[in-house]
Order: sequence, then C-alpha cells, then structure tokens
Amino acid sequence: MTKSNEYDALVIGGGIAGEEAALNLANIGYKILLVEKDLSIGGKMIHLSKVFPTLDCGACITTPKVSETARHPNISIFTNSVIEDIEKHYENDFSAKLVEKPRYVTEDCTGCQICEEKCPVVVEDQYQWDLVGRKAIYVPFSIANPRIAAIDIENCSLCGLCEKVCPAFAIDFSQEEKIHEVNFKTVIIATGFELFDPTLIPRYGYGRFKNVVTAMQMERQLVPTRPFNNVLRPKDGKMPDNIAYVLCTGSRDETVGTPICSQVCCMYSTKQAQLLMGALPMADVTIYYLHIRAFGKGFCEFYQQAQGMGVEFIKGKVGLIKEKENGNLLLRYEDIQEGIVKEAEHDLVVLSVGILPNTDFSTMFKNVKIEQDDFEYVNQVDELSSPAKTNINGVFVAGTSSGPMDIPDSILSAGAASAEAAGYLKGGKK
Ligand code: SF4
Ligand code: SF4
Repeated sequence: MTKSNEYDALVIGGGIAGEEAALNLANIGYKILLVEKDLSIGGKMIHLSKVFPTLDCGACITTPKVSETARHPNISIFTNSVIEDIEKHYENDFSAKLVEKPRYVTEDCTGCQICEEKCPVVVEDQYQWDLVGRKAIYVPFSIANPRIAAIDIENCSLCGLCEKVCPAFAIDFSQEEKIHEVNFKTVIIATGFELFDPTLIPRYGYGRFKNVVTAMQMERQLVPTRPFNNVLRPKDGKMPDNIAYVLCTGSRDETVGTPICSQVCCMYSTKQAQLLMGALPMADVTIYYLHIRAFGKGFCEFYQQAQGMGVEFIKGKVGLIKEKENGNLLLRYEDIQEGIVKEAEHDLVVLSVGILPNTDFSTMFKNVKIEQDDFEYVNQVDELSSPAKTNINGVFVAGTSSGPMDIPDSILSAGAASAEAAGYLKGGKK
C-alpha cells in the first residue's frame, strides 16, 4: 500500500452533492478520494438549462463547482471508475477496490475533437438523451471535466482512423482495467438518482411516437448552447406550437415506477413551460397534473408566474396517447374537475418522468450491509437529529441517494453529510 492510496474520506459520486461534500471536507484539510462512474464529474445538474425557481443558468452554477473540485489540491478524482468491496475493519479504517476502466485515450488528449470528425461510427449520444448521434470516439460533452475523449469500445470498428489523425498521439488501444487498493476513514454515498424509463408505460407511446419526449430531452433543447439551441419536433424538425406536459410519469404510481412523489417534476415542468413561452412566444403550453406540489420557498409564486404567463394547468390524469398521421398526438385524459373523459390534440408531448434511486451503492459493500428504506434509497437511521447517518458507523449519505430532493436540498444534505463525516473523523467514532 502506498501513501497515495490513503485518504481521509471516500466520496462516491461526482454530482452536485458529491462535489459539495468533497469540497467542504477538503477545505478543512482532509484528503478526499472522489470516484465517479461517468466520464465526467458534474452529475445530471451540468446538463440542465436553468434551475427553478430563480431561473438561474444551471451550468453557470455547476461549472465553477466542477472546476473547483477538479483543481482542489486535497481532492483526487477518478472518473470512469467504480468502487467495489468496501470493507470496514475498525472505526476509522475502511478499505476498498477502486476499478479504473480504460478510456483507450491517454491524459495527453487535448479535447480537440479532430478524431470525432474522422471516426466513421455513429451511435446515439447518451449525454444528449439519444436526441442526436455521437461518434465511437467522443469528448462526452462541451463542458466535460476532464475534457478527455474516450473510445466506446463496444461500438468501435477498430479502423484506426482516430489514431492516424490524433495530433497528441493520445490513442492507446492497449489500455486495460486498473485496480487500486485504497484505504480511507469514512465514506459519503452520493450516487444520486436514475430517471424513470417511460417505455415502461407503453400507452404513452415513448419510443414509438417520436414527438413524445422526456423532460430531460426537452431540457437539452432548452440549453442555450450546442447542439440544439432550438426547440424542434424530433419527427419532422418543425417548431411545435401546442406542447403538453404529462406530470407524474412513473411517480406516485403503485403499478410502475415509484409510489412516492419525485418532488421535482411539478417545478421542473413549470420552469420548462416558462422557458418555452420565451423560446416559442406563439406556442401554447398545457400541463396535465394530479396535484401541483409547490412546497418550497418561492415555488407557489413560481407556479402563479407560469399561470400569469399563459401556461394552462389542467387537473387531469392522462390515460392514453395516440399518434396521428401528421405526427400530432391525441391525449385521452380524465378531466378531474369535471369528472369526464376528454381528448386533446398537441403537436409535442413531454413526459415529466420521475426520480428513482440509483442503487449502485447496495452492492459496493463486502463485510457490512448498507440498509435501504422501503423505496430502496439509503436508509437514514436518525433522520431528525443526524440526517446523513446510515446503519454503518462512518458511512454517511448525501443528496438524492437518500430520497428525491431538489438541488438546494441536495446541497444542504451534502453539507450535513460532510459535517457529520468531519465529526466522525475528529472523534474517531460516533
Ligand atoms: Fe484530439 Fe486526439 Fe483527444 Fe481526439 S484523442 S480529442 S484527436 S487529442
Ligand atoms: Fe472510431 Fe474506433 Fe475507428 Fe477510432 S478506431 S476512428 S474510435 S471506429
């Protein structure tokens, strides 16, 4: 074991909660190992257009935090890496396997993207939620950190063109998975959330009807940077002028998704509706909802602001979506106020998909078992007086790993996790 493999804290997940927790501990002198399974830190927040209810630019908040985390002398970051076999030996004494996956591109990469121009293989771009294509070699997205290309080896044809054109000689097909043994004294789980897969509700037509998109796909279209900077119907590239949102897609549903409220869909849809009113001033926007949950500071005013801008809110449960020949969609819904079933036509439908736990954390531990709650999130064993505490002394939880929450609450939760972890490090045990 080398000295460089020893850390005060392991933070699992490089989204907003993981970064916040890592920075809080690093700023008071602790050595942090931050492990992110994705190619870049920044989590899902780095892909957002604006945040509610302030309508501040999402990337303008995230990118300084991403840079600060990446540059901090007390934080070591491994991206494209996972943690396995966490073992607890004594208080303040954990070990684990850090598995660093190959990118097939070295750190000499400058992110110039010349290789992307030459690569002949096009596949769906997961960072744009499959709305556009990317090459088999790719820089994940424009503000990725690290901004280093990676080869998607499963789709690569091994033609070697990227290697021929790379001016930095950064292509390295000989890379293999590296395993590092790491030691640390405390753990913060910040693995975040997954989005509900709307193909699990076939009657909504997602995946069959191109003009049915998810809110994350709309979010990417609303971002004022590449590759869209425009809101268009995927089927024919026309500007939509009558857009519907279907709230609670996969949330508050005992049959599919999660029975609990995802806490953010009402407000992110209200935010997108306002942005659409700006981007497409002639468009109508209708939100079909069961209840509007505007519980946070400024949320109710934000909802009223959307109403004032002309967004129509219909209390109705959408049962079925059908596609017409021209690509428009027919929504059959129960109008809850009037108690009757109605139909309405829209030219673009946005499914406000809910939040599900990312349960990666559940298989990372070897000789201890992390408890999950009834909804498979990390169980908060003392939610009122020690909200980050889990059933394992020295292991804490931050952000949406413990349940659905919005960005400010994720940051607060990360503050609690880092404070509790600092107390644990200082006191030896809790
Ligand atoms: Fe540029 Fe080479 Fe990196 Fe591709 S791998 S982005 S060509 S430096
Ligand atoms: Fe693309 Fe693979 Fe060919 Fe490189 S070797 S250009 S990644 S297909």
